[in-house]
Parts: sequence; C-alpha cells; structure tokens
Amino acid sequence: MEHIILIRIGEIFLKGHNRNFFTSLLKNNICEALKDIKCKVVSTQNRMFCEGYNQDEEEEIISRLTTVFGIYNISPAVKLATNLEKIAELCCRLFPKEGVFRVTVNRADKKIPLSSMDIARNIGAEMLKDSSYRTVNLYKYDFEVNVDIRENGYSYIFYRKIACEGGLPVGCGGNGMLLLSGGIDSPVAAFLMAKRGVKIKAVHFHSFPYTSEMAKEKVIKLAKIVSCYCGPIELSVVPFTEIQYAIKENCPIEYMITIMRRFMMRIAEKLAYEKNCGAIVTGESLGQVASQTMESIMVTNSVVSLPVFRPLIGFDKSEIIEISRKIDAFETSILPYEDCCTVFLPKNPVIKPKLNYALELEVPLDIEKLVDDAIAGTETVICDFRE
Ligand code: ATP
Ligand code: MG
Repeated sequence: MEHIILIRIGEIFLKGHNRNFFTSLLKNNICEALKDIKCKVVSTQNRMFCEGYNQDEEEEIISRLTTVFGIYNISPAVKLATNLEKIAELCCRLFPKEGVFRVTVNRADKKIPLSSMDIARNIGAEMLKDSSYRTVNLYKYDFEVNVDIRENGYSYIFYRKIACEGGLPVGCGGNGMLLLSGGIDSPVAAFLMAKRGVKIKAVHFHSFPYTSEMAKEKVIKLAKIVSCYCGPIELSVVPFTEIQYAIKENCPIEYMITIMRRFMMRIAEKLAYEKNCGAIVTGESLGQVASQTMESIMVTNSVVSLPVFRPLIGFDKSEIIEISRKIDAFETSILPYEDCCTVFLPKNPVIKPKLNYALELEVPLDIEKLVDDAIAGTETVICDFRE
C-alpha cells in the first residue's frame, strides 16, 4: 500500500484539441510548485497523481497543490493492489472512527464478481462493526468513503476531497505586466489574473530617498507571497524620483497624480513589450480614489495601446480585502510604508482630468528621455516564495 494524492482537473479546458497543451502545462506547473519536495507527478487521461513522497510531507504537498490554478480538487488516498478484504480493513483503520458516512464504490475492473453496491455494503458493514460511533446514511453524511477499483489491478481509497482554486493553468493566457504597489489591491489583481492563466511579471515604481528601502522590501515580499499562486515573478523596480521632480516643476499640483500615472503606464508598456507581455494589469477599482474615476482612467489609459486589465474594477474594498486575507497578503500590505504616489500626493487631486490639458502640461517635458532614463535605472528581482 502507498500514500498518493489524486489530483482532479477542470473539465472545461480538457475539451477539444488543446487538451494536451493544457495538461502538460498544468503538470509542469505542479512539478514547479513541488520542485523542492521529493515526489513524482504522473498524469493519466483525466486526472493526475502525486506519488513517491515521504508521508510526513503530505500536508505540505496538499497545501502547495491548493495554490496551483487549473486543479479543482484533490484527495489524499491510499493505493493498493486490489483485494476487497484489505480494502475494508484499511477503510476501518484509516477513516474517522465516528460520524455519519456512506461508501461509494466505482468498479472499473469487471473481473471482480461482486457489484459495486455489494462491495459498498460489505465495506460499510465492516466499518460499522469496527466502531459503534459510526452510522450510515446514504443521503446525509459527514464523510464519504470512496473506493475506486481500477482496471489495472490497483484500487484507490480516500474520503477527503479538498477544494482547490480552479481557474486555468498559469501561462496558458500569455504574460501580463502588473503595476505592483505596496498596497492591498495590486497583489489581489495578480492573483485574479493568474487564475485566468496569465503569467505575471511586475513593475514597481519607487521614489528613493522619499520612499525607503523598507518600502521596496515590502513590495518584494508581496511579490513573493503571490508567487505561491503565480509562480516566480520577475519584478522590475524602476526609479521614479526624477520623473516626479520634472512633473512637480511643470504641472499644477492637482494634476500631479494624473501625469504621474501616465508616466507609469508608458513605462509599464515599454517593459511589457520588452518582456513579451500582451497586456498591462493594475489594481484599480472604479471610484476608489480620484485617480480611479472614468475620466482619470481614460486620461491615463490613453498613453498606451496594449489592453489594460483591471480585474478589481467592480470590486468593493471589503471584497478585495477578503481575497487579500485568503492569499495571506493582507498583513504585509497594511504595513505602514510610504508609496511613491503618497509622497507627492496633492490635497485635492483632480477628479475629472481633461485629456487636452494633460497633453498641454506634458509639452515642456522630455517624455522619451525621462522614460528611457527611468528604465535604464531598473533593478530586476526574481521573487519566489521558496527563497
Ligand atoms: P494598491 O492597493 O494596489 O496600492 P491603491 O488603492 O493604493 O492600490 P492607487 O495608489 O491609486 O490605488 O494605485 C492604483 C494602481 O496603480 C495600483 O493598484 C497599482 O496597480 C498601480 N500603482 C500605484 N502605485 C504604484 C507603484 N508605486 N508602483 C507600481 N504600481 C503602482
Ligand atoms: Mg497604493
């Protein structure tokens, strides 16, 4: 007998001729998530198995698998050469000693003379004999004992079904360049886009010496936290202070954020092209702050031609926080370090900026040089939670 983990994958993307592409990508992502743990991942027609691991690493493997997009649920199971007595004995020994249960048998191996119903009944009877705290109810139960008797002479027994994130395997939807701040929203945006199969690369703007080394470290930490779900993230840390000086000298303070954000988008787009990304991703949510009104979004969006994905656009802050907590980013996101947007924050930023006026304000700025100089000063960090 051997402990293994059954991995069930979504049905939707398994249809059609892309099937092999999706399954091999998912298998790669699973292997990548488990690369520092000794185990083997095997894929069959419509599911995968993780096997050959040390029993004491099972919980860690389970917790890693729940973060791999494209997996719907998993079951830690026991695999044994098919033997009905042995199966019943293991069900008695390994599964909860109390509670309401049912037994469901799937018998693919038709060489076995008993029907699946008969086998289930026998196992149930043994389990009742084994503990008087167990009862059977086929319709309302605390746990379901599953016995899967395969054609290849092996059976799998399990009772836990652990829900995973679903979604699509990271990488199947292309690369996205995320604007990653140190706040609550952008790490959640990374999570949601990765869930739809987008491989995340990120850019962070920092305003040294107005923003500290600690603020930068916090962003790296956030990228590492979301890398559990997204895979390792290549983060470009771009110096933004010179651009902010130039804007401050030439623009009225209430347009500061608008023009700053136009520069962020230009730089993000340039990096996106360099790094083979087909879209830009931000953590904006409509109406949350002055720079997130329709008019502001139009004015900042108009400097780029790549699509800009804003997965949080219709989310309330409380909904965003819920996801942020779930992915363990919240406690880091709320650490009180300044962001470059807060350093030069005007008291009354314009809520409905005018595009023509923004264009006029930018005339004295040497946009190309400012953008290129900032990009030239980029520091690249690979953020991986295992390091
Ligand atoms: P967040 O919680 O993600 O910081 P926010 O509510 O603070 O968002 P803003 O500061 O207006 O809102 O930022 C909106 C979006 O702009 C962020 O979600 C992020 O995508 C991007 N952004 C803001 N500041 C930075 C920065 N310093 N570096 C990179 N991207 C940034
Ligand atoms: Mg912010």
